[in-house]
Amino acid sequence: MSLSDIFFVRRPDQNISYRNKIDRKHVDFLICSNDTLRPLAGAELDDTSHNKPDRVERDRFVNEVFKSAELKLIRFENKRTYTIQEVRERIDEIFAELSKEEVKTYAAVSSEKASVPTCPKCGIPMVLREEKKGDRAGEKFYGCSNFHKCREVVRY
Ligand SMILES: [Zn+2]
Repeated sequence: MSLSDIFFVRRPDQNISYRNKIDRKHVDFLICSNDTLRPLAGAELDDTSHNKPDRVERDRFVNEVFKSAELKLIRFENKRTYTIQEVRERIDEIFAELSKEEVKTYAAVSSEKASVPTCPKCGIPMVLREEKKGDRAGEKFYGCSNFHKCREVVRY
């Protein structure tokens, strides 16, 4: 899955190089919540190519992206076969770090966030705003978080 399908770059017009950078990178798997499809963790299969200098640099960048979005990234050693048991144990281990309460809060927050539309032009979450003046004063709408650069609007 492309990193740009999971993450967005703030102020994309000023951070084009980062947008291109996440556009060209992928993770092997994305683990999502059953209820909300909110991403919970990425998973990567690390084969021996991950020891090459350019791969090391790439891995470091991907780690940083996940870290800054506070999303977990689970690295698996790339093997010919896996047992469900060992994969399950690794994933359980990671999620055990989050208490049940945290997972619940996470899910609640994410369903709230899930209702926020994405700017059709910039592909980043929009912000709920209120019309200040004119006939429509008091009316709510979603504006792009990239305003003033982008004036895209979505009805509330
Ligand atoms: Zn926009």
